[in-house]
This record gives sequence, C-alpha cells and structure tokens, in this order.
Amino acid sequence: MNPSQLQNHFDAFYEDFFCEMCKYGEVEEVVVCDNNNDHLIGNVYARFKYEEDAQTACDALNARWYAARPIYCELSPVTDFREACCRLNSGEGCVRGGFCNFIHRKEPSKDLERELELGMKKWLRARGRDKRSVSRSISPNGESRRRKEV
Ligand SMILES: [Zn+2]
Repeated sequence: MNPSQLQNHFDAFYEDFFCEMCKYGEVEEVVVCDNNNDHLIGNVYARFKYEEDAQTACDALNARWYAARPIYCELSPVTDFREACCRLNSGEGCVRGGFCNFIHRKEPSKDLERELELGMKKWLRARGRDKRSVSRSISPNGESRRRKEV
C-alpha cells in the first residue's frame, strides 16, 4: 500500500472505532498506538466523558470480536494522554521508533478528525447535555485490535 492508501485504510478503521464508541456515550478522545512493542501494539484507547459509559463500553466490547479475534478490553487509569504519549509529536523523530515505551499516536487525517468532531457536537446538541464530568478511559487492547495492514 502507498502512504495515501494506508491513510485511507487507517481512517476507515478510526471512523469505525470512533462511531462504535459513540454508541456507548460521549467520547472525548481516541488514541491509536503506532508502537510495535508488546505492551502497546494494537492498543486503542477511548476516553469517555462519563465513567459509567466507559464501563458499559468495556463490558460490551469484551463480548465482541474484531477481525476474527476476540476483543480484550479493560478500564484504563490514564486520564491524560499527554502524559502517556511520546514527547516527540506522534513519535516522529523518536530514536526508539516503534519500541518506545510512550505512545506513538497514529493520527487520522485532518478532514476526518474535523468531521467526527462536528458529528459529535451535533449529536450532543440533539441529545442534550448534563453537568456530570468524570473522565475515564478504556483500553480495548492487544492482538485483537492489531490493524490489518500491519
Ligand atoms: Zn517515542
């Protein structure tokens, strides 16, 4: 695959994942790891605004399969991805490459990111907001979430 095909393929996965997560509640952030080391490869994180939504998503995901593999999902203690991500932007230029212990984030295209953000805002307006504000992240992880092009 050339870089633009790869990006399209990744965007499709990202959109799919984001939209799936939105079924469980308000998603504030999605982080996809581009790392190759054992504890980060294939990891995808979704940060929900409300902890109970993260719990619901987690329970539902553990009963599902993706790309012929069972999904393994757990609640993650990470609430601030800036701390967990490599200081070098998206890991570009990081000497440890895919084996860095910090998350090397794989970014969706700007267009898709904007589209998802607008979609989320529209959905929230339609649904009405409330004032609770406890963040909690989940981490559907591992082999099951390894991207198909890898
Ligand atoms: Zn790094």
